[in-house]
Amino acid sequence: TAPVLAARDLRVWYGSERGPVAAVDGVTFDVRPGETLGLVGESGCGKSTLGRGVLGLLPPGAAVDGEVRFAGKNLVDLSARQLQQLRGPELGLIFQEPMTRLNPLMRVSEHFEEALRTHNGDLTKDEIRTRALDALRGMGIPASRYESFPHEFSGGMRQRIMIALALVLRPAFVVADEPTTALDVLVEAQIIQILADLRRNFDTALVLITHNLGIVAEACDRVAVMYAGHIVEQGDAREVFANPQHPYTQALMRSTISLSTTGLHYIPGSPPDLAHPPAGCRFHPRCPKAMKVCAQEAPPEVLLPNGTRNTCWLPVPDMTTADGRRPLEVEEISVAD
Ligand code: SF4
Ligand code: MG
Repeated sequence: TAPVLAARDLRVWYGSERGPVAAVDGVTFDVRPGETLGLVGESGCGKSTLGRGVLGLLPPGAAVDGEVRFAGKNLVDLSARQLQQLRGPELGLIFQEPMTRLNPLMRVSEHFEEALRTHNGDLTKDEIRTRALDALRGMGIPASRYESFPHEFSGGMRQRIMIALALVLRPAFVVADEPTTALDVLVEAQIIQILADLRRNFDTALVLITHNLGIVAEACDRVAVMYAGHIVEQGDAREVFANPQHPYTQALMRSTISLSTTGLHYIPGSPPDLAHPPAGCRFHPRCPKAMKVCAQEAPPEVLLPNGTRNTCWLPVPDMTTADGRRPLEVEEISVAD
């Protein structure tokens, strides 16, 4: 099937005192209908900026270029107003902090009336109620709570209400940015299950941004690993988990296994300052397998036989040339500590 959304060489910059910062620096990926793409990486790697950049939801002063193909349009070229019209019925965003997105003075019912009226002016109050209660029931919120206010719910219930609100318009494409980070493990598991059901039922394409690789393993069809504004490896989630190719992906997985839920701060060193990224491969100062070429030239993206795309200079075993040589003759160097 054709992708519902296709990003090509997408870049997002911010101005900063230290000069322009490319938080997302040329990323390319596709998402197909009904598919969930997990976007992972340490905090500051650009995954939230990427999620917002795709939807045109960046703060003022951010600049975007490249291409985000959706419904025959390049979203990067659309005005704020055109994007606003797509958001809701076509494009959805689920944020981390539900309290800041629900109006404390509005009942749950009023939130749904507002969301549905904005995009379907002719719906009656009864039709709105039916669709809202459907969406809420899908999230495990009983109809008896329809007239309650946000503060009458737990954090987990508020987050489920937010998700119901984002999905009641049945958008074709949704970005969920750390949707479960503030929640306990049980609620997290419920929400992941609910998202899986919804995309099965409505063929919604989902980009799930998370630092939790366990969630990716459980809920995602494909995974893209980000480091310092780049996607360094992407492919089928099972393949990438079973056989991570990129040294950063390998480090990320080791850190997750040893720390399980507490985060990814275990990989030695820290991500680079994006105002002055290292030359060559951006991971080379931290990479246990770095070679001389890594500090000099940006590595190519290599498409492996299993469909994984890996951006690294390391020779890939089955990428030998016809006469049996390895494709790269590289000099090994030790990594500076
Ligand atoms: Fe490590 Fe070099 Fe691959 Fe970068 S290109 S991840 S430094 S081996
Ligand atoms: Mg973030």
